[in-house]
Amino acid sequence: MFAEDKLKVLASASMFADMASNIGGDRIELKTIVPIGADPHLHETTPIDAIKVSEADVILVNGLTFEGWITELIDNAGSSADVILITEGVTPISSTVYKNASDPHAWMAADHGVIYAKNIFDALSKNDPANEAYYEKNYLRYKKELEDLDTYIKLAIESIPRDQRVLITSHDAFSYFGNRYGLRLEAIMGISTEADAQTSDIVRVTEVIRKYNVPAVFIESTINPKLIKRMAEDNNVAIGGELYADSLGPKGSEGETYYKMLKHNADVIVSALKDKNMSQTTHDDADKGNPLWSYLAIIGILAAGFIIVLLKINS
Ligand SMILES: [Zn+2]
Repeated sequence: MFAEDKLKVLASASMFADMASNIGGDRIELKTIVPIGADPHLHETTPIDAIKVSEADVILVNGLTFEGWITELIDNAGSSADVILITEGVTPISSTVYKNASDPHAWMAADHGVIYAKNIFDALSKNDPANEAYYEKNYLRYKKELEDLDTYIKLAIESIPRDQRVLITSHDAFSYFGNRYGLRLEAIMGISTEADAQTSDIVRVTEVIRKYNVPAVFIESTINPKLIKRMAEDNNVAIGGELYADSLGPKGSEGETYYKMLKHNADVIVSALKDKNMSQTTHDDADKGNPLWSYLAIIGILAAGFIIVLLKINS
């Protein structure tokens, strides 16, 4: 657990921990709750999480219903930590599916990353004023990097022909990205990965693929790619690559930091959507395929897995 005599900072998810590491450097001791590659929407808290929470001085939380499990975890752990809402100051996008719910994926736009970084800087300075000058120097450097990244992504997306700026993913994590950089979004699942995809979702996304003659769809690092791969196959569109949304990639991967994950996403999206030839055949050929029952089978398998997990939890 936490060992050193430094400010003990706990982040809910890996991308927020990376932001904190950029600002706190070696003056903080940093831990993360949800491991890299795991899905924070579906995280199941462990006794180790409770120990981390009880020992932390500062806890960094996204909020906007991203970590639905965290309030109970903090309450039960008897924590006296300063709990920081790092989305403070972001204008949330409301969910198109769930009433009175906000889309949690605000970090997906680099200009919001600057707001997150400022909130983290303020939290570290407040709880460890002796190191404020050090945190400030790092924050200003990091802020500049993120602002440059924001410009880079904007220009990159603008290089895609306007009618090809359509992004199709497994879950709806890219609305802030789309709003900021000008992409139309369609996802099979909603803003959380908790609900299973419905047949109507598949019909809706298939229509978009055909209407816009979309050359590629994208898989996400924390989500089972079965359904999106099946859609790609049946519509003869390519898999444009793997995107990072709810977690960093492992060390050494192109998504190993928050900065790199956003840059990787932009690069992958641009190269796939710019290239109409990625679509292997014309969409007329696709009309003969697309049997609905095959989707129902995949949804059934995913639902069965979910039920098994539920039974395990309850037993
Ligand atoms: Zn998500």
